[in-house]
Amino acid sequence: MRRILVAGNWKLNGSKASIQKLVTGIVAGAENLTDVSIAVCAPYVYLPFTAELLTKSVVGLGAQDVSEQDSGAYTGEVSASMLLETGCKYVIVGHSERRALFGEKDMDTARKFAAARKQGLIPILCLGESLAEREAGMTEVVVARQLDAVLELEGVQALNDAVIAYEPVWAIGTGKTATPEQAQAVHAFIRQRLAALDAGVAAKVQILYGGSVKGSNAAELFAMQDIDGGLIGGASLDAQEFLTICQAGQ
Ligand code: 13P
Repeated sequence: MRRILVAGNWKLNGSKASIQKLVTGIVAGAENLTDVSIAVCAPYVYLPFTAELLTKSVVGLGAQDVSEQDSGAYTGEVSASMLLETGCKYVIVGHSERRALFGEKDMDTARKFAAARKQGLIPILCLGESLAEREAGMTEVVVARQLDAVLELEGVQALNDAVIAYEPVWAIGTGKTATPEQAQAVHAFIRQRLAALDAGVAAKVQILYGGSVKGSNAAELFAMQDIDGGLIGGASLDAQEFLTICQAGQ
């Protein structure tokens, strides 16, 4: 049985004051949630501050992006070893906002995935189609293309130490959640694609759903056979709402 993972993606939000309040609330509530894994992905500059607040807590720390490079003349970049040293366990790679707004290509994401794994970080690999792609019946083609870039570079065994997040772009920040059945169908597709290469990896890998997950819809999503948790944007900025989602994964 796969364990449920609920990860918050704060995106470009927060200040020391708001993060202190948020994390204190999450840590207090998370103490009773022993059957679910919980993580928060903070903006780079707040990672050390958040790590400090998470000391002795079971809540894991993650970053929202990583450089594909280890070191060198890459102004503005942050490497996987830096993230590790700062206390990160996870890093999101290939979020649709990186792909759509910052020109990240499938192979760029695959190289970031590889850089993270090389340092022992757990990449949370985001996959997902746009509304136009869904309406054109291209969902599986797009998700397969995004996944295959990582499989080509790293091989299927790499998914043993990774998490996948299916995030349909049309559901992100829109309040328009995929129905549990819509999400389940894509999650099953991803798992089958992996199973064709390695049944053990496919059975083990956690596949999270992301896109307008809230306290009120988390339980029905997490109840689906191939949905193993959530990657939470807006609702992860409120401790009570986030904890309600975590509770749904118990
Ligand atoms: P929302 O939960 O705000 O829709 O964002 C989802 C997301 O992009 C998480 O990475």
